[in-house]
Amino acid sequence: MLQLLKIMMDSNMPLLISALIVCIAGSWITVRIMARIAATPGRQNHSWYLQCAAAGATTIWCTHFLALLAYMPGVAGLLNIPLTLFSFVIAAVGVLAATVIAATSKSRMGPALGGAVLGLAIAGMHYSGMYAVEFGDHMAWSLPTIALSLLLGIAFGTLSLQCLLRSGNRHREILATVLFVAAIAGLHFVGVSAMRTHMMSADLMASGNAPVVLGVALAITTLLLVATGGNSFSIDDATRAESYERMRQMALHDALTALPNRVSFNDHLDEVIEDAKEKGTQFALIGIDLNKFKEINDVRGHAAGDVVLVTIANRFTEMLGEGEFVARLGGDEFAAVHLTSDPDELNAFVARIEEAINLPIPIEDYEVTTGGSVGLALFPKDATDKETLVTRADLAMYRAKADPLRTVAYYEPAMDETVREARALAADLKTAMEKGELSLHYQVQTAIATGEIFGYEALLRWTSPERGEVPPALFIPVAEENGLIIPLGEWVLQTACAQAAKWDASYKLAVNLSPVQFFHPDLYRLVKETLENTGLSPARLELELTETSIIDDKQRALEIVRRIKELGVSIALDDFGTGYSSIDTLRSFPFDRIKLDGSFMQGIETNSDAAAIVRSVLALGRTMNISVLAEGIETPRQLEVLRGEGCVAGQGFLIGRPARPEALGLQSA
Ligand code: C2E
Ligand code: MG
Ligand code: MG
Repeated sequence: MLQLLKIMMDSNMPLLISALIVCIAGSWITVRIMARIAATPGRQNHSWYLQCAAAGATTIWCTHFLALLAYMPGVAGLLNIPLTLFSFVIAAVGVLAATVIAATSKSRMGPALGGAVLGLAIAGMHYSGMYAVEFGDHMAWSLPTIALSLLLGIAFGTLSLQCLLRSGNRHREILATVLFVAAIAGLHFVGVSAMRTHMMSADLMASGNAPVVLGVALAITTLLLVATGGNSFSIDDATRAESYERMRQMALHDALTALPNRVSFNDHLDEVIEDAKEKGTQFALIGIDLNKFKEINDVRGHAAGDVVLVTIANRFTEMLGEGEFVARLGGDEFAAVHLTSDPDELNAFVARIEEAINLPIPIEDYEVTTGGSVGLALFPKDATDKETLVTRADLAMYRAKADPLRTVAYYEPAMDETVREARALAADLKTAMEKGELSLHYQVQTAIATGEIFGYEALLRWTSPERGEVPPALFIPVAEENGLIIPLGEWVLQTACAQAAKWDASYKLAVNLSPVQFFHPDLYRLVKETLENTGLSPARLELELTETSIIDDKQRALEIVRRIKELGVSIALDDFGTGYSSIDTLRSFPFDRIKLDGSFMQGIETNSDAAAIVRSVLALGRTMNISVLAEGIETPRQLEVLRGEGCVAGQGFLIGRPARPEALGLQSA
């Protein structure tokens, strides 16, 4: 110990301090590179292993020579250069081996073993380095001190790597660096004190400034080298941070529009709710759904649909002010948050949203306008938890969508009532089927010119002991929403076909199909088997579709229609004039009949517009060779006008109200 102190006191201080700086800085970088290698196994680590070996070896080697020069400046003149370089190679190979063992070993003690190899590497470097000094015969070694130095090097090396790679300590990199420094310094100083030379005089101690200059130059070079390693380490760190940030962006943003996605919307909403609860503030959640997006996608193609979404998303981004947030939840569904309770500010925000969705969108050489529905729910007035708030904003949005007169709706408690009522209705409808509360009425269809009956349309009736007569316009949408329409529609088709099979064979049977039924994969089989089982001739069955059934997926709809027609069944387009009423649909689908919606009848006597529309649909039917049936004929005048215009077929209260088959003189099953 005393010997050690004496060595230090006798040393050249600037060089000794340089040695210490090199040792600490180099150990820090080496330790960090080792930690990185162990944390991210993979092929790209090869160059990191080399970096680690270079940094570690340079640190050990330079610390050794700087400390030696500090103690014996004259040593510079006695170095055997090849041997000195060889001592560097020993350090490099040793550090490399230590790192490979420590980082790749699956064993719990792997890092400790690597650390022991590190200690041996330091020792190997030190003693081969000392051997490189040509002391001649003036040299003697103390074996116990050598053993002690080895023990120190191995012990600190082991502790250093075990602490770095196997401890959960938050400061493990700093601790490992301290132990790394202790391994190098301990081995070196104890190692030096193991040596006794009689050459202490002139040769070793003299030599003026030259060794100091050499040593400082060596220290600077080493620090630069180590700094380069550290720099590439931090560049790599920054690149990794960047790619992490990129991945985070991708996970939180919608790829098409670059708006925040549903995940980040949920996170944002959580934060906003927490904040509002803490500060007692209010905010609005706004649900936005585009109206004609599906149609644009269908008619103009997906590329046009994408332009619509991107344009609207950009408009949203541009209009956002402080405390406002918009996300795309998926499809044509967006959501926004507005952070004040001031009604004027909120209305202004909603007005900006409306403008963004209502302005025309230029696509190539044409423009489209989608429009949309907006629903608002307020925190904490309408709900104090996320799920309820989202549901209520959605309810308001659906209300806005269902009402042709408005595009914006604020949540009202009555909306919950509507949902509850729909649920209760669905539950009752389910039991109604089991209890036999459903029946079929038939409405007569006649040739207008002669008044001759050619068929009947089956219309579903629900007579509920509690609710009374429930109109199909009320319960069919509910059945469509929850899938009940499938068993219900099956029952209608089977019952109607079975009954019609017993009628006069000259009467046709018209059966309504809901869009849900139409796209159901079992439809073809159902129609085919029903005809076989009931014995009804396919030529007598006519299925009524609405345009909504077709518009969702025209190609598939066309295939379904063609297959069903192959069975010999005919197809009518119901409620023509109320939906999209596109001539294109008429042209591309092989309809056998157009049913002109009853709403035109009211105006036909007085309103010249309505009469003109009826006239043009009749003309269209004639050109396309499709028979037109006018629905909802209620007055003799309407019938007369239709007869005058050459309408082929008619149906309505004037000709006959829907009624039970017995009441119509039809033989029922
Ligand atoms: P729809 O297929 O257009 O049926 C014609 C509707 O107009 C029937 O209403 C009928 O009673 C009514 N109607 C007939 N003549 C006149 C008239 O002169 N004036 C007026 N104002 N109305 C008349 P209903 O039975 O209430 O059915 C309404 C809608 O419910 C039907 O419209 C149809 O879309 C749907 N529906 C009825 N039964 C079924 C069914 O079994 N399955 C499916 N999917 N839908 C059905
Ligand atoms: Mg119908
Ligand atoms: Mg109709």
